[in-house]
Amino acid sequence: MTVRPDQSAQTLSAFGAAARVLQGDDPLHLRLHRFFDLLRDTLHHRDARLTCWLQSARPGSTRQQYYSADAWPYPWDDGLTRTVAREGVISRRVIALGGGTQLPAVRATYLGASIMWGGRLWGVFELRADHADGLRAATDELIGGLLPQLAAVIAREGESPSGQRASERAGDTPTGLTLRAQDKQQLVALNGSLDEAIDLHALLSLLLRRALEVSGAEAGAVALVDHERDELVLHTFEGFEDEAGVGMQNGPRQRWSVETGLAGRAVQSRRALLVRDVTVEPGLHGAGVGLRAELAAPIVIGADTAAVIILSSPRSNAFGEDELAFVRALCARAALPLSRALHYQEAIESALYLGQVFSSLPTGLALIDIYGKVLRSNPAWDSLWGLHGRVIRENFHVSLDLIAHLLPRLHDPLKLTTFCDTMQRSPAKDLITTIHLTHPAQDLEVRSVPTRDSKDHITGRLWAVSDVTRERESDRLKGEFVSIVSHELRTPLTSILGYTELLLSRDFPPDERHQFVTTVYTEANRLSHLVEDLLEMSRIEAGKVKLNRWVISLTNVLYELTTQLNTQLMNHRLLIDVTSEVPPIYADRDKVKQIIFNLLTNAIKYSPSGGEIQLSIHEARPDELPAGHTAGRWVLVSVRDQGIGIAEDDLPRIWERFYRVDNTNTRRIGGTGLGLSITRGLVELHGGQIAVESEIGRGSRFFFTLPVSNELARR
Ligand code: ADP
Repeated sequence: MTVRPDQSAQTLSAFGAAARVLQGDDPLHLRLHRFFDLLRDTLHHRDARLTCWLQSARPGSTRQQYYSADAWPYPWDDGLTRTVAREGVISRRVIALGGGTQLPAVRATYLGASIMWGGRLWGVFELRADHADGLRAATDELIGGLLPQLAAVIAREGESPSGQRASERAGDTPTGLTLRAQDKQQLVALNGSLDEAIDLHALLSLLLRRALEVSGAEAGAVALVDHERDELVLHTFEGFEDEAGVGMQNGPRQRWSVETGLAGRAVQSRRALLVRDVTVEPGLHGAGVGLRAELAAPIVIGADTAAVIILSSPRSNAFGEDELAFVRALCARAALPLSRALHYQEAIESALYLGQVFSSLPTGLALIDIYGKVLRSNPAWDSLWGLHGRVIRENFHVSLDLIAHLLPRLHDPLKLTTFCDTMQRSPAKDLITTIHLTHPAQDLEVRSVPTRDSKDHITGRLWAVSDVTRERESDRLKGEFVSIVSHELRTPLTSILGYTELLLSRDFPPDERHQFVTTVYTEANRLSHLVEDLLEMSRIEAGKVKLNRWVISLTNVLYELTTQLNTQLMNHRLLIDVTSEVPPIYADRDKVKQIIFNLLTNAIKYSPSGGEIQLSIHEARPDELPAGHTAGRWVLVSVRDQGIGIAEDDLPRIWERFYRVDNTNTRRIGGTGLGLSITRGLVELHGGQIAVESEIGRGSRFFFTLPVSNELARR
């Protein structure tokens, strides 16, 4: 920014006049009024302010602020003033003012210059223009020229009797730690705000702001004391530089030991302490770069120090007894509000913490009042009951609305109704039940325990719902396993024992004896198969089955199989459809036989006499492979029967071990429910897939894939 040559003469003369005004004998505020006015013609500012620290004979300095005469209603930002003081430069920026209920929002130009002279900070000179593009004429050159003049005025004022009057430091009577009248007023003015502040952050910010204002400190912080760890935790701070290094720069929540710094000393001694220059104080270093004077005052609640206010300044001797007295009084006044705010904060934090736990638990939780109305519930509650996306009305009652919502899925509606009734009748009882839902099948365990207030009065109930479908399923499977295995073991064993006992008791005619021995043989065979299946199953599940793979021809396997199944196939017609060009596969011969054997015996078992069973084998076309199947060349084997078929609901479950479709046919036919899970395990070991299509009463088609040998050899 430059001033045009034709303007410069005019500007210089205006500045000369302004400087002369400063030298006058009028009281300082009048001189400054005229000074600011004279500058206005050149700088076009809206208002101006001078903040200065008048040095006196005693340590500590008083901050004074002088404003231009026609005050603009927008308050000045003391934080900005402190920044300028700390940075020691001329700073320009566009600022936003107002915008609250009282003053309209405006964008303004701000210029702040720190008045440095002889390595000392004397004050801060500030200008504001009422638009974002103002103060263009206020070049660094011009402002820089004014600063020494202002420093000289401030220096003179600090020494003069009028200056001492201004700072109310007249006379030599030491004030000790008695509060100055204006500081007392400041405290009284704070009363309302302190009593209202319940929010910890708002309260600490208020305390810090006031302490900074009254003391004139350029930087300050409030830290809370963590007694468990003997540490201070930084909470609120202002004016510290962002450079890395010692002190507060690392932001809120930063911790340091109570053994460190003036703040630590203040906490431990529970006394307000003052250091006029940290650089000459052994064992102390400042809270920030370039800071010299430091003041720390504890806020003591009962027997404990809860917090500490720390004030810092780059000016050594910046604080004196008056500042100390004020901050001490401020801390004493803040004890009660702080204790209240800390309790409030603790309550909020534990509520927040509980809220987070409540929302993130996988258990469905709902707080219910004594009438059964849901007061609060977590997301798991909605998802477990399938209430997702449903707008839960204001009045959602478990006994009415939940039951109504679940009715189409409730296996036993009476159970939930009775549960709700018992809850109403016995409010103090802990209750537990399991609700069975259908479509899809789901077992939900509901616990309901009374909730109580601090006076131990029952306020309602907490419902905790968890999905126990899997646990119940594995319990059911275990139970079924024991009953099936014991039944399957007992039946052949009883026959074997019965017939052998008979054979041993006396002699029978040869054909009768032959018949008995045949039965014993068949039953022993059945036993041996069951034991085989169980062992095979557990080997597959444990991943212990190793395939003995060779290039094999399915035609040979089929020939051996049909010979083996000869007797069982007496009542059925078996149609074999194998195309001549079926390629050889790369597989374990015995396992492939076992797979086809299992499917054929099922087809025989589950279809009436005279039924037709079709076994077809061909190389699969790509569109015949199930979705997600590995690409490549595969042989497709399918076994189709005209038997009882399988209901749609049972289809996905027939592969589970011990799962048997429960109907009169399957009960009559008998089986372990292991065959298909073994079959699937074996197909998958070969890299293939098995699937089923079925229609109840019309028959089923099981089909699976096995890898073509060339394909594998190439890989
Ligand atoms: P198992 O035959 O010993 O009961 P599986 O595991 O071989 O055991 O079969 C599981 C269930 O699948 C059988 O109980 C039966 O209900 C059903 N199932 C299997 N194959 C057929 C079929 N071909 N037709 C109808 N139902 C079948």
